[in-house]
Order: sequence, then structure tokens, then C-alpha cells
Amino acid sequence: MSQDASTLKLTITGAAGQIAYALLPRLGELLINVESKIDLRLCDTESQLPALNALSMELDDFACPWIEKITCTSNLKDAFEGCELAILIGARPRTLGMERSDLLVANGEIFSEQGRALNAYADQNVKVLVVANPCNTNAYICMNHAKDIPSHRFFSMSMLDQNRAYAFMAKQYDLELAMIENLCVWGNHSPSMYVDFQRATYDGQPIIERIQDHSWFANDYQTLVAQRGSEVIKARGSSSAASAANAIIDNVALLLDQNQCYGNFSMGVCSHGEYGAQPGTIVSYPCVYNAKGELSIVEHIDLDPIAQQRIALSFEEIANEANQCRSLDLITH
Ligand code: NAD
Repeated sequence: MSQDASTLKLTITGAAGQIAYALLPRLGELLINVESKIDLRLCDTESQLPALNALSMELDDFACPWIEKITCTSNLKDAFEGCELAILIGARPRTLGMERSDLLVANGEIFSEQGRALNAYADQNVKVLVVANPCNTNAYICMNHAKDIPSHRFFSMSMLDQNRAYAFMAKQYDLELAMIENLCVWGNHSPSMYVDFQRATYDGQPIIERIQDHSWFANDYQTLVAQRGSEVIKARGSSSAASAANAIIDNVALLLDQNQCYGNFSMGVCSHGEYGAQPGTIVSYPCVYNAKGELSIVEHIDLDPIAQQRIALSFEEIANEANQCRSLDLITH
């Protein structure tokens, strides 16, 4: 956020979509104080410009004191000029008969172009959160096309998986949600992700000491969290929108406000090979703010052999997709 005017230049792509519709009314929650404002750039494809204009009208009708300006655009220069925070939600959905590699190519083009535009026009301290799926790989492509923006400013969203993990654990054992901490998700935002229940605490005490039978944690729990997205699609006919918007709010709050004391949280960040991931890929790790206020990957976690094996499989899935991007020439250096 600009220090002087306390105005956040925020770009949201896919702004005419379902998630954005649930997100926009809640953006005020991200502001640090009542005087802060948002210079909001709503970006979508050209055909969605009427929908963006309708959104802009609705936002006007909120009579929000925190909206300084709204720009509706399909032009990436207008969308990213001076941008301090980019939330990339817009992408091609996978349609009937489309192979995963077709999806990778379609979205690869979108995220290459957006990476180059961020590089050319965004603020030098921009932070980029990629929500659109496959979010780890899309973030990887975007980062690789934004050569002047440091890789530690690119993030993919695993917060929805983390929130699901908290909710299932609380429900299963009738626990007070607010007293659960340090529950994190490793790996890819896909069914291969791993919920690290072993370091989670309840009222400061390790959960695994409080609950003796760990078989639920190691099996059903993992499946419930991993399959939750598909369950929502089955029930609703489209993917999670309100809960994804809520997770974006949680994720961005962490990205913007570094001074508060948090426990561990899950974030897709650029790996340097920590815990065996392929360096340069975007991987969800347990993260923390260190004493200097820097976001860092939690070090020296002692993982048991099962956790190691599960995490390695998820890391491998991410690495395979990154390698596929190279073989499809989506990344050429
Ligand atoms: P949606 O189909 O309702 O909206 C997507 C929007 O993106 C559409 O308005 C579309 O026109 C726009 N778009 C397409 N190409 C674009 C481009 N090049 N530039 C700008 N906008 C573009 O979808 P949704 O429900 O809002 O979901 C959006 C994405 O978020 C999907 O990829 C979905 O899989 C993903 N998602 C991620 C998580 C997560 O936890 N990471 C959770 C839920 C959904």
C-alpha cells in the first residue's frame, strides 16, 4: 500500500466471475485503517466489459467510503499500471473433451501475458496472488514471465484447503475452531495435497496428544479435505465461490499486514528446494512471519515417513507440471 496516500492499487482479474462477485463486497475488510482506500481495477475479457460495468454500478451503490476509483478494463496496461496487489482469478475453465495439456496451454498464454504486463507496468513492490487453477502452475508461469519482479512476491492460494482442514477437524472432534492453530497444507492445490495434522495445536497443546486415534487424521481426513472442492461442484454445479473469496480475504490479509503475530499458515510460495521440492516451483508450505517481518517457510520440520512420502508425491506432481510447461514452450528460459 502506498505510504503517502494510504491507497491500495488493487487489480482483480476474472472480475466478472463468481469468486470475484463474492469477494468484492468484502474488500473493505483488508484495509488497515478507516482512512485507507482502494483504487480498484476490475479486469476481465472484452466480452465481459458490460458485466464489469454492472459490477461497478453495484459497487457505487454500496456507497463505500473505501473505494477511491474503479476502472473496468480488458487492457492489461490499464489493469496493472502501478498495481501493488494483483489477485489473479481469471482463467479458462476446463471444458468437455479438453485435455489437461490443452488447459495448460490456454491458461499458459493468459499467465505468460499477465506476467509480462505485471513486469512492465506494476509497482516494483507488487505482490501477486494466483487463485485461478491450476494455481501453482499458473503462478509459476506468471512469475517466469515477470523477470524483474522477485520470485518471493508470487503466491498461489492454498488457504481454502487450509480453511477446509480447520473446519473438518473442528467438526470431527467438536473442537472450538479459534483454539486450533498451526494446521497447514503442503504441496499442490489438488487432491495430492497433504494436511499436516501432526504439528497442529489445540489451546497450545499438540492435537495428536489430545486425540489418541490418529487413523482418521491420516486417512479419511486427508480425503475429505482433498475432495471437498469436487463435492461442492457436485452439489452446486460450479466450483466453490464464497469459500474461495473468503480464503482470498484470509490470504491477502496475511500478505498485507505483516506486523501482527501469526502462527503458521499455508501459502504457495516459490521454493528453493526446501523439503525436496523442485527449486523454482510454487509450492504450498507451512509459512510464518519471522522476527524481521519477512514471510518465510518454516524450517526444520520433522516429518514422519508417511508424511514425507505424501508430500513428495505432491511435490512431484507440481514438478511434472512445471516440466510440461517447458516442453510446451510456455517457459523458454
Ligand atoms: P468463473 O468462470 O465464474 O469466472 C472466471 C472469469 O475469468 C470469467 O469472468 C472469465 O471471463 C474470466 N477470464 C477468462 N480469461 C480471462 C483473462 N485472460 N483475463 C481476465 N479474465 C479472464 O470462475 P470462478 O468460479 O470465479 O473461478 C475462477 C478460478 O478460480 C477458476 O480457475 C477456479 O478453478 C479457481 N478456483 C481456485 C480456488 C483455489 O483455492 N485456489 C478455489 C476455487 C476456484
